[in-house]
Amino acid sequence: MTLNKQIVLDRKPSGKLTVDCFRTQSSPVGDPGPGEVLCRTLLLSLDPANRAWMQGATYRGEVHAGTVMPGFTLAEVVASNDIKFKAGDLVEGDGGWQQYFVSPAKGLQKRVRLEPLSHLMSVLGVTGKTAYCGLLDIGKPQPGETVVVSAAAGATGSIAAQIAKIKGAYVVGIAGGPEKCRWLVDELGLDDAIDHREGNVYATLKARCPKGVDVYFDNTGGPILEAVLSRMNLNGRIVCCGVVSQYDTANPASGPRGIPGLLVTKRIKMQGFIVMDYVKLLPQAEKDLAKWMAEGKLKVAEDIIDGLDQAPAGLVGLLAGENRGKRMIRVAD
Ligand code: NDP
Repeated sequence: MTLNKQIVLDRKPSGKLTVDCFRTQSSPVGDPGPGEVLCRTLLLSLDPANRAWMQGATYRGEVHAGTVMPGFTLAEVVASNDIKFKAGDLVEGDGGWQQYFVSPAKGLQKRVRLEPLSHLMSVLGVTGKTAYCGLLDIGKPQPGETVVVSAAAGATGSIAAQIAKIKGAYVVGIAGGPEKCRWLVDELGLDDAIDHREGNVYATLKARCPKGVDVYFDNTGGPILEAVLSRMNLNGRIVCCGVVSQYDTANPASGPRGIPGLLVTKRIKMQGFIVMDYVKLLPQAEKDLAKWMAEGKLKVAEDIIDGLDQAPAGLVGLLAGENRGKRMIRVAD
């Protein structure tokens, strides 16, 4: 009998997430019922949202203690009881933190194999598409405008910032630490970068974005959002992609000052989105992202960790800013 290693959320964190909130268990691999598919996990995405799901009040159901930790996966079909899938197919779906999972066929999307497979989880996966759809549909950066991106050295931010450069904007990234900031400028070609761990983001923004900010791609919320908000230009656009500064706590802070006052006086548009809203735009997003990569205009950073056992530490480290680019777990070859 093949055993399935699973990582379970053993208890909800009361403050910051720690690895001892998780435990490992093994259970027999399940049999797919009618209309179901048995899959073997290849890559598991680690996302800041994994932590937010433990708080509840997100776009998906709350994760309760005692359940296998959910997570987005790239997997291979082992056995299928649905006509649309056959053994060997590559699929993506919500497989969770485990080696094998059984899913209803309608919960899976077939993917075409490419090299490296990890690109399907980074630039050509949720990350790249989130950056593309949010920045271009809501931010609409124009040549010469100033675009600021927070968590700019991360998975989504690094792609959003480069797309803004491709569109001809002056791009300033905000990231944690001097090394990430140097990398954003020297390797990704951003115009400037601000270290949010060093002092006053508002004052630095004033110096580095002398013409103000036209588009802000917000991955963090919290104090960084408040600082950028005060530097926004008339008719500016704020793309609310995520709130990573507020996920790893039992007590998220209240919203920033300036809302709605600054939105009114400066006619600022502030809009949230979830990438799944953009089903119709996704094929074009994938095409453009692949083209920019092939042309050398878009660099992809990936942070791949080997072994399902490393998922808890990998998520804790992601929330602490260990990663550069898309962090994922290689569960199997
Ligand atoms: P990242 O790869 O950007 O990793 C998270 C990063 O957040 C860390 O590396 C760290 O970078 C930064 N960070 C953590 N805590 C703080 C803090 N208190 N203040 C500022 N920065 C912090 O993750 P993703 O690209 O996967 O996610 C980025 C954002 O996009 C998240 O908010 C996520 O929820 C959102 N998202 C939204 C989607 C949507 O459909 N709307 C889809 C996917 C993601 P540093 O060292 O620079 O501080």
